[in-house]
Amino acid sequence: MRLTRKILRASYDFLCQLPPYNRMRLPPSSKLRFVVSKRTDILGEYLSDPPTISVSLHSHEHVITVLKTVAHEMIHAHQDMVKKDSILEHNAAFKKTARRVASLLGFDPKEL
Ligand SMILES: [Zn+2]
Repeated sequence: MRLTRKILRASYDFLCQLPPYNRMRLPPSSKLRFVVSKRTDILGEYLSDPPTISVSLHSHEHVITVLKTVAHEMIHAHQDMVKKDSILEHNAAFKKTARRVASLLGFDPKEL
């Protein structure tokens, strides 16, 4: 699979339909930018100004990997846009949400 911005936006929209994201008051995907990056040092990142989810082209060939990375960055987006919390660290609030996402969606919490 060749990763595109459309796939990232569709992944965000898909995850927004599922618990716990469907109750997290995340903005519609039209309010975020989606970027396919060429970075090799990170899988993805969330940037707050403007709200951007960036996912590395080089690290993603499988759908499940894309979904996991977008799910991870959506927790950062939630911290930033809804909770007004730090987005730079995987703090206790991040880890709590990640465990909930992992439990409800069947991801390995250590991979989120
Ligand atoms: Zn992170």
